[in-house]
Amino acid sequence: MARRKKIYEGKAKILYEGPEPGTIVQYFKDDATAFNAEKKDVIDGKGVLNNRLSEFFMNGLTQIGVPTHFIRRLNMREQLVRSCEIIPLEVIVRNYAAGSMSKRLGIAEGTQLPRPIVEYCYKDDALGDPLVTEEHIAAFGWASQQDMDDILSLALRVNDFMSGVMLAVGIRLVDFKIEIGRVYEGDFQRLIVADEISPDSCRLWDIETGQKLDKDVFRRDLGNLADAYSEVARRLGVLPKSNVTKPTLIN
Ligand code: 5GP
Repeated sequence: MARRKKIYEGKAKILYEGPEPGTIVQYFKDDATAFNAEKKDVIDGKGVLNNRLSEFFMNGLTQIGVPTHFIRRLNMREQLVRSCEIIPLEVIVRNYAAGSMSKRLGIAEGTQLPRPIVEYCYKDDALGDPLVTEEHIAAFGWASQQDMDDILSLALRVNDFMSGVMLAVGIRLVDFKIEIGRVYEGDFQRLIVADEISPDSCRLWDIETGQKLDKDVFRRDLGNLADAYSEVARRLGVLPKSNVTKPTLIN
């Protein structure tokens, strides 16, 4: 059997060269990290759940006309995605104050914001992904003004979609992070939603009880992370009922 070429290994995923040019295989690991990898663990089944959930969200986005890198799921832990040039920004959309915004601005967690607020962080682990302004982004050439207009529009469309999908299953979308990729099509280039959308990159709170169903369960030691993600998957109908608590693990 031929060994696949590993392109990149991150904290939660491995990227391999795909079967056709312009494609990449995205493998979801069970590793969980927080606080810039200062806290680490392996959570059985997390990769399987995030692979399925990211597929679900990316497919939904495609259906409403938001371009994404997702092509198809290959197996329990892998999906085929379009290769793209990742813009070195974490694009964060917030509907309610939480996490770093609450800390930075002294706003109580859970306070509804007057409108969705979009923030940008420079993707650099060594620097701890610092918050940056559009001035930094333009001055350092990370994205053009046209890119920024497109990124804002993509971010708000993803927010509307994700908020609606979550609301329908009794979950509040507090905030989330996406990454954006650039693809070239002949003389044109366009931006697409890349990386993953999963409870690793969103804050999801049960509307009735406020229970956290996202990576904060791990960050703040609030219980079993795989159970929380399974609950999200169960409500969305992403996992069959028999698989709810213990997804079959195939590496
Ligand atoms: P905060 O800035 O409050 O830490 O995070 C805001 C939102 O973006 C949260 O939903 C959080 O999960 C997500 N987020 C921020 N940075 C990262 C990151 O480096 N990786 C992942 N997976 N999510 C992030």
